[in-house]
Amino acid sequence: MLIDDSHQDVLLQFNAVTAELIAAEKAAGRPAGSVRLVAVSKTHPAERIRPLLVNGHRLFGENRVQEAQAKWPGLRQDFPDLELHLIGPLQTNKVREALALFDVIETVDRPKLATALAAEMQKCGRRPHCLIQVNTGAEPQKAGVLPDRADLFIIDCRDRLGLPIEGLMCIPPVDEDPSKHFALLSALADRHNLPMRSMGMSSDYVVAVAAGATHVRVGTAIFGRRS
Ligand SMILES: *Cc1c(COP(=O)(O)O)cnc(C)c1O
Repeated sequence: MLIDDSHQDVLLQFNAVTAELIAAEKAAGRPAGSVRLVAVSKTHPAERIRPLLVNGHRLFGENRVQEAQAKWPGLRQDFPDLELHLIGPLQTNKVREALALFDVIETVDRPKLATALAAEMQKCGRRPHCLIQVNTGAEPQKAGVLPDRADLFIIDCRDRLGLPIEGLMCIPPVDEDPSKHFALLSALADRHNLPMRSMGMSSDYVVAVAAGATHVRVGTAIFGRRS
């Protein structure tokens, strides 16, 4: 398969991030490969994503159902073993499409969505792993369940609705030290025996590795700035 040379920058930056991730695992005393890199490809066209797939990377994140629908079915045809995570807000009227398209839904953030996901999973038979998004900074403009409601929401999603909840996700406030937010998420995940902790982006993924992230979501540091 031919790779367009103009997207070499993506491969170089991907390799740099991977190297830094390995160093961060080592520095934190964690086993090599214990943190998975979700390459966040939102806004970038399929031609910029394909070189990473050809190179062997399989794990990606998108934040919009509609954009993912336009980009990923074609890529999946060529790379059926790829794994696509939804990392952006999900409207209840897009639940069916999301379940058809994504392998993990990282943004279960409210009861209405949880109920819609449970109902649609029964209908379509697909049960992608779900993460609950926690608004660790209790920011009014940000999605996610508030920390003081998280315990009950997790239990309700898992036990009453039977959702396949496997972990937690957070996006710390931009102007704060992220480590206390990562620590809060880790403690909450420990308390509920949830294995997946999705935290850390381009600016703070090294901090997230030290705090126990199992998945870091990195866009800009791999693909460059979004327009
Ligand atoms: C865009 C996005 C990312 C990636 O952010 P970068 O700073 O570009 O690495 C991670 N997580 C979520 C939820 C995002 O929307």
